[in-house]
Amino acid sequence: MKTVCALNQCAGCMACVDICPKGAVTIVDRLSAYNAVIDADRCIGCNACHAVCQHNHPAKQQLPAKWYQGWALEPELRNRCASGGLATAVSEAFVEAGGVVCSCTFKDGQFVFAFAETKGELQKFSGSKYVKSNPVGMYKKVKQFLQKGRKVLFAGLPCQVSAMKNYIGAQYEEQLYTADLICHGTPSPKILEIFLNQYGYSLGELRDIQFRIKAKFMIYADHKSVVPNGVCDKYSIAFLNSLIYTENCYSCPYACKQRVSDLTLGDSWGTNLPEEQQRQGISLILTQTQKGAELLNMANICLKDVDIEKAIKNNQQLCEPSHPPKTRNSFFNGIEKNKKFNHLIFSRYPKACLKQDIKSILIRTGIISYEISIVK
Ligand SMILES: Cc1cc2nc3c(=O)[nH]c(=O)nc-3n(C[C@H](O)[C@H](O)[C@H](O)COP(=O)(O)OP(=O)(O)OC[C@H]3O[C@@H](n4cnc5c(N)ncnc54)[C@H](O)[C@@H]3O)c2cc1C
Repeated sequence: MKTVCALNQCAGCMACVDICPKGAVTIVDRLSAYNAVIDADRCIGCNACHAVCQHNHPAKQQLPAKWYQGWALEPELRNRCASGGLATAVSEAFVEAGGVVCSCTFKDGQFVFAFAETKGELQKFSGSKYVKSNPVGMYKKVKQFLQKGRKVLFAGLPCQVSAMKNYIGAQYEEQLYTADLICHGTPSPKILEIFLNQYGYSLGELRDIQFRIKAKFMIYADHKSVVPNGVCDKYSIAFLNSLIYTENCYSCPYACKQRVSDLTLGDSWGTNLPEEQQRQGISLILTQTQKGAELLNMANICLKDVDIEKAIKNNQQLCEPSHPPKTRNSFFNGIEKNKKFNHLIFSRYPKACLKQDIKSILIRTGIISYEISIVK
């Protein structure tokens, strides 16, 4: 098998698929790893796939010039977003200034990328999707917008930003603005599908999916929590314990302080700001370039100083990639043998699961009550 980058190290960024003039590259999802496989019969040896690959050639990374924490000033916007709503607030200002935003949305059962040119269209991007997203087709289209003289803001995972920069090259660098998310790692959407199937859901039948409401991590399928509202489900437990990511994530070259984008966004974990602000969500914000500063200047946001050391201490991904738990291989073996997802997670994290299962019983029987308002 001929692959674009080292075996099992593909991030699924899809830049090689977009650039191949012969349609010779296919991404093979083995659940525990992705591979970009080259069809030797179609390949003309142009090397474009190898050159654009962010694993082979990570784009230039630089240390942040400025560190902040903050939030979107519009309360409704902040409420519907993952943390402080910075990504959406910056995107709003960008489209209002005539730019185009390209980011991730859930559509027809898939985590794909799309464009937005108005404030209304941006709603589809809000919220974190804790799964590998798929920017296929976007590289070409972003380049077309740039060729027409438009400014584009690409917001995605660091590996995707790196791939976009490789694809676009130096010619349109000035018009391309990039925002990357601090990233823990991403599982294949097929793992999410296996989890959902246990509850009778299927991604293809959902119109909406949410992965968290502020600091509460749990899956909401079509605005209904999969397990009782307030309980952390076993997909979220597996995600937060770094069990289910694809293999490349454990040696991610972007999990460090040197960032690949103009603007980096994450959660301001460990903040010293009042509880009331924390409940509403606070973003951690890093700017690397003048363009990053420009994005912040144009947005309707509140910026505060942040204790950099504390921010780094509370966000491991700013120092090193997630570590694969010892039980990861046996988890994927179990999945291949059709063992129940929830059982596999319970046997690996009995304490965490038992705590949530007891909470679930107490909520179901009305002994304790828990309500989180779901933003529709
Ligand atoms: C897989 C993943 C892992 C993360 N791990 C961490 C972490 O360890 N530490 C940390 O501080 N923050 C992490 N984040 C970032 C955090 O969850 C928030 O996305 C970030 O703080 C931005 O919040 P916001 O309120 O500004 O975003 P919003 O205004 O809600 O906008 C979110 C933006 O992110 C984009 N997006 C969402 N999901 C994806 C995806 N799967 N692929 C590409 N783009 C996507 C949306 O399209 C949108 O543009 C992670 C995000 C993801 C998607």
